[in-house]
Amino acid sequence: MTLMEDSVGVGDLVLLEPLEEEPLLKNLQLRYENKEIYTYIGNVLISVNPYQQLPIYGPEFIAKYRDYTFYELKPHIYALANVAYQSLRDRDRDQCVLITGESGAGKTEASKLVMSYVAAVCGKGEQVNSVKEQLLQSNPVLEAFGNAKTIRNNNSSRFVSDHLPGSPLGGVITNYLLEKSRVVKQLEGERNFHIFYQLLAGADAHLLEALKLERDTSHYAYLNQKVSRVDGMDDASNFKSVQNAMTVIGFSETEIQQVLEVTALVLKLGNVELADESQANGISASGIRDERGVQEIGEMIGLNSEELEKALCSRTMKTAKEEVVTTLNFTQAQYARDALAKNIYSRLFNWIVNRINESIKVGSGEKKKVMGVLDIYGFEILEDNSFEQFVINYCNEKLQQVFIEMTLKEEQEEYKREGIPWTKVDYFDNGIICNLIEHNQQGILAMLDEECLRPGVVSDSTFLVKLNQVFSKHGYYESKVTQNAQRQYDHTMGLSCFRICHYAVLGQGHGPSRPIVTYNVNSFIDKNNDLLFRDLSQAMWKAQHPLLQSLFPEGVPTQTSLKRPPTAGAQFKSSVAILMKNLYSKNPNYIRCIKPNEHQQRGQFSSELVAVQTRYLGLLENVRVRRAGYAYRQRYGPFLERYRLLGRSTWPRWNGGDREGVEKVLGELSLSSEELAFGKTKIFIRSPKTLFYLEEKRHLR
Ligand code: ATP
Ligand code: MG
Repeated sequence: MTLMEDSVGVGDLVLLEPLEEEPLLKNLQLRYENKEIYTYIGNVLISVNPYQQLPIYGPEFIAKYRDYTFYELKPHIYALANVAYQSLRDRDRDQCVLITGESGAGKTEASKLVMSYVAAVCGKGEQVNSVKEQLLQSNPVLEAFGNAKTIRNNNSSRFVSDHLPGSPLGGVITNYLLEKSRVVKQLEGERNFHIFYQLLAGADAHLLEALKLERDTSHYAYLNQKVSRVDGMDDASNFKSVQNAMTVIGFSETEIQQVLEVTALVLKLGNVELADESQANGISASGIRDERGVQEIGEMIGLNSEELEKALCSRTMKTAKEEVVTTLNFTQAQYARDALAKNIYSRLFNWIVNRINESIKVGSGEKKKVMGVLDIYGFEILEDNSFEQFVINYCNEKLQQVFIEMTLKEEQEEYKREGIPWTKVDYFDNGIICNLIEHNQQGILAMLDEECLRPGVVSDSTFLVKLNQVFSKHGYYESKVTQNAQRQYDHTMGLSCFRICHYAVLGQGHGPSRPIVTYNVNSFIDKNNDLLFRDLSQAMWKAQHPLLQSLFPEGVPTQTSLKRPPTAGAQFKSSVAILMKNLYSKNPNYIRCIKPNEHQQRGQFSSELVAVQTRYLGLLENVRVRRAGYAYRQRYGPFLERYRLLGRSTWPRWNGGDREGVEKVLGELSLSSEELAFGKTKIFIRSPKTLFYLEEKRHLR
């Protein structure tokens, strides 16, 4: 039990006295400065990004944590991985490791540590080993296609992943929601997805020639930003690793080639320059400025270039009687080109994920217990928040709901298992905020869909007007129009904005604890529509390129249905629903990651920054719930081992059972019976003070 002994501060926040924000932050900081990046809240693990390689990982440590129970060693991610793995194996329950935290907090690194732990301790045998290797090799591939340099993190995951190493390892990776807007546009200081730079830097002359690419990133409009390189990241050598990883996973040479061709296609599409060909009579039209580029693309994907040109610059509308072809104006044509590039890339990404899954699935058909490792983007508040932040934060709102419910449920179940009476705990229920966003008719997402489908002139501002009408009295919604006298008037909020008061995790009366986020409605309608004109999907389907063609099944001309594909918001909502169902069906294990500073620097701990995150993550609330009944619990055996020196009858020798021993020791110390509960296998202690009292006595001996 080094939990309290060797570690700095308290290793479990449940033991924190007094339970307030400041001591909580101090405790995390003290530990961080002593390179103790892990701290528990009961069975929840908090991890503070060290931004340096600590000598606490690898086979030696894996072996150590494998042989001990949770509380017997210092807090560590391996201990959590071990608990999850053992319950999977011994209790035969599906597990899920849910990793949350903001960008750069260390989620992806944590998920890799969990997976490598499970890979190290789970079954043996040739087949299992090869699946393990494939699963571990899936990381460089997913990162190449799904990660990018952002302002906050040089290797930021722009998708949500759910690895499911099964037992024995195997699994499925589900991916939700790639940030596809990045393909065509990046913020200043950010890059596109790594693979583009890797390909250009790492492809040998022969491959580059075959793909008809230029080595220089500045040649490509979609990459043409000020940053093309990332400190400490070697794109060329990473490209070799990705190629190698794809081979290990089982991609054939042809498949790898085709993946790279489609990747190159996206870059080339970005370079298709459009021209405004509006005529003097006022009819607007667009055309291709440089035919060569389109011809080259046509040759590469096996499509007549005139056909491609037509698809890019015009649109066919079907009415009941006839087909009408209209030309797109300049802006529409640009929109169409970018939509095509985004769609190709995100579908390619999904295809890669599915292809990896085919390889790592073990013994298809039979139902195996699984362990999901879910790496999910955290709450996001930028200077300008748009549709992307809105859906990400909605997802986090839902996660918070599951988190509190499941933590309470876990507690309740443990009490029940141990035969101890349960007292109800009050907590903030964020259902009202979830509803504000997801309600089937009167939720923001539903209203956005309604606006997107409504005939007539719709715009982002008509959408906002509706929101303002419907939510004028809602306690968690506000805008310039609805702002009421009770609230402080904020001059900074623009007219095109609305605000949501996200989960109030600290309950009322704790100051500025609620993340209030201002969203700008500009482009909500476009982003939600996410339209890919049918002419384009049909053109892609006609291409002779097998991979590209398979990415656009809806392009089959015989398909007559004109049903509109679901909007981006509706897709997101249903992904979130699947995710929630998935979580509720598994036994959850939580890792809460914290970013200590904004500069990706080791050793720096900014209390303000951490304070904000502990609020989003609801850490205090978590400790409160965990401590509502009994703050501390331990199995009788280890507890007796540690404290039997405090009892007359148990020291130096005790021959009775563990539970009787514990009863003897605590009885002799005349602790109040209020403070203790004897469960079936564990002793429960109500307040941390009692535990500290025991510790003190122990040290005095
Ligand atoms: P995003 O949401 O942007 O994907 P993230 O939470 O996944 O962010 P990571 O990519 O895991 O963040 O971590 C960012 C960087 O922090 C890593 O590239 C690595 O340099 C460092 N880092 C994170 N965790 C650790 C760790 N346990 N040990 C050493 N370095 C770490
Ligand atoms: Mg990540």
